[in-house]
Amino acid sequence: MQRARIILAGVLVGTALLWAAAKGEQNAPAQRSMKYTSGSAESAGAWQKDVRSRLFQLLKMDDLIDKKDAIAFDPKELSSAGRGACRIRELEINSTTNRRIRIIVTSPASQSGPFPGVVCIGGHGSSLYSPYNEDTVGKDVAKAKSDRLYKGFGTILAERGYVTISTTVSRHEVYEEGRLLMGERLWDLIRCVDYLESMPELDRLRIGCAGLSLGGEMAMWLGAMDERIAATVSAGFLTTMDHMEQNHCMCWKFPGLRELVDFADIYSLIAPRALQCQNGMLEPISQFNVPLARKTMEEVRTIYCDLGKPENAVLDVHAGGHEIDSPRLLYFLEKHLYSNRWAEPKNIQP
Ligand SMILES: [Zn+2]
Repeated sequence: MQRARIILAGVLVGTALLWAAAKGEQNAPAQRSMKYTSGSAESAGAWQKDVRSRLFQLLKMDDLIDKKDAIAFDPKELSSAGRGACRIRELEINSTTNRRIRIIVTSPASQSGPFPGVVCIGGHGSSLYSPYNEDTVGKDVAKAKSDRLYKGFGTILAERGYVTISTTVSRHEVYEEGRLLMGERLWDLIRCVDYLESMPELDRLRIGCAGLSLGGEMAMWLGAMDERIAATVSAGFLTTMDHMEQNHCMCWKFPGLRELVDFADIYSLIAPRALQCQNGMLEPISQFNVPLARKTMEEVRTIYCDLGKPENAVLDVHAGGHEIDSPRLLYFLEKHLYSNRWAEPKNIQP
């Protein structure tokens, strides 16, 4: 009898706990309500449009998108110099009507344009010059970890006939009242695309973006939210939001984001446009590790398949760590932005 009572009490407590847990789950905000699920090309396009517009709202950028064409650049040239095969200029332009940003612009010295353009994006602790080598920006310029991490990918592109542009997204202050950090960072990059488009030597149909770490995250955002981007290289970032909740600066997160999507969904907004993610084998498991990148890329491939371009989403797993794989970056951008001079390597066995 005593034993039966104990069992009954145990069952009652267990039921109560299960009920409380279920109720708690009900009260917690649902996560990833707009997760992409496989469907027709038409429904994939409608999903992208819907998610993009919800994200612009969360990012508090709606008003800026609406009045974009009315914001004049009012450029002020701070320096200009010829370096090797390109000319490099440092400028200040209006990002919004209340805020000016500094940009680096390189353009090929030759007159045989139009040229493709690439927005080059640095990560945490980076400066305006981080994507470039000293021989491009000048030895007097103090650079952040450029050589070891970024491999001077901006310089590589500049010397190979791309127009390149760079601005700084590494700050953590919000400048304008009513804005969000991620919204301001993304907006400044969208303005870089606007500036590229204003250059007569630029081919508007061949604009790409590339970045590492926070720069890889911002390349994801720019490729996802700005459909003018034809090719995106997102290095040292592909992962999940659950993983980013640990061991990372939390500047990626803002109210409403997790309830709506995960990173795989944001990358899915880039489809069917070209996307290369890069993750290094030497990334520690706590960072942007390869197994998690592979899993996330599998999710991203779903929409690329639905849109009939599975070959346009690639994961470059390289032998390095948290760094740019510059040969693969160049290979990918040549293929998608300089296809007239790109050729499939002949010595690769299937
Ligand atoms: Zn941060």
